[in-house]
Amino acid sequence: MTAIAIDDVRRTYGDTVALDAVSLSVDPGEIFGLVGPNGAGKTTLARAITGTTDYDGTVALFGEQPRAIDRSRLGSLPQSFSPHERLTARELLEYYAGLYDDALTPGRVLDDVGLIDSADTYYENLSGGQQRRVCVGSALVNDPDLLVLDEPTTGIDPAGRRQLWDLLEGLAADGTTIFLTTHDMHEAERLANRVGLLADGELVAVDTPRALIDAHGGESRLTVETASPLAEVDASGLDYRAAIVDNDLRVFDVAPTEIGTVVDSLTDAGVQVESLSWAEPTLEDVYLELTGTAVGRGGQRLDDGAASAAEEPNAPTPPTEGSS
Ligand code: ADP
Repeated sequence: MTAIAIDDVRRTYGDTVALDAVSLSVDPGEIFGLVGPNGAGKTTLARAITGTTDYDGTVALFGEQPRAIDRSRLGSLPQSFSPHERLTARELLEYYAGLYDDALTPGRVLDDVGLIDSADTYYENLSGGQQRRVCVGSALVNDPDLLVLDEPTTGIDPAGRRQLWDLLEGLAADGTTIFLTTHDMHEAERLANRVGLLADGELVAVDTPRALIDAHGGESRLTVETASPLAEVDASGLDYRAAIVDNDLRVFDVAPTEIGTVVDSLTDAGVQVESLSWAEPTLEDVYLELTGTAVGRGGQRLDDGAASAAEEPNAPTPPTEGSS
């Protein structure tokens, strides 16, 4: 049975269309990552799934309406969640565990979210990342079949984030279905079996990270730092497209095995190569391509000049200052 079946879901707030005919299904044990710019409708969709907002269309969780499903089967973490501040991490999880007949022990959940050493610290004295982990723990206490997490790792440091990823992967391997929203493309790429990209309330792409990258990520790129004045570089002999991006030379669609050939060609053209970095397209490139919005983290974006150079297949583009 489908874990989450969303069919033609629409939600408006006055003139604002928060969700526009969204249809999607998520399988049991799948980790589904929803990404999209601020205001795209991610939280509204997460709330439609958990039955905490009204909508037109249908949502079914294991065949039941969100508000009808046995609450012990659903774990949810809203984006803004502020538990009582003068309770310790353990007391908070004891409180949430007490809401269910058959809950996990708070100690086990604290251990799972990496907080056992801070179990007796007041919530208000935990760091922002530790607080968020308590909140994630509160969504886990009932050992749910479906977890809906709205930006679960926001504010958590890289080590803590990795620990939570491992935890979520372990839960999914044991059959828990996980629907999460995130702004972290690395998180979506690493964690999600499938990623949905929401823009202006519409689901514009849904697929595995690999398929999305292959379809929309563009090409690999070799960034060449050089001491040579770029305006004087003649790359017409270079059998690859190239452009100047942020005072570096960027060469497109170079396989790792071809890097030596590119360097030889550049050296022949009088370019003094100082350093090289090669990057494959990632989900961030897909995001940029489909939403036209930078994600605000990770590497430097291609600028307009490079993007337009990349749009002309098989046309070696001599780098000029004008193209940067
Ligand atoms: P995201 O989570 O992707 O940032 P949201 O689902 O929070 O997006 O919001 C989608 C759109 O709906 C935005 O334009 C937002 O301003 C609007 N919206 C969301 N909740 C409300 C609300 N309670 N009242 C009015 N507008 C809302």
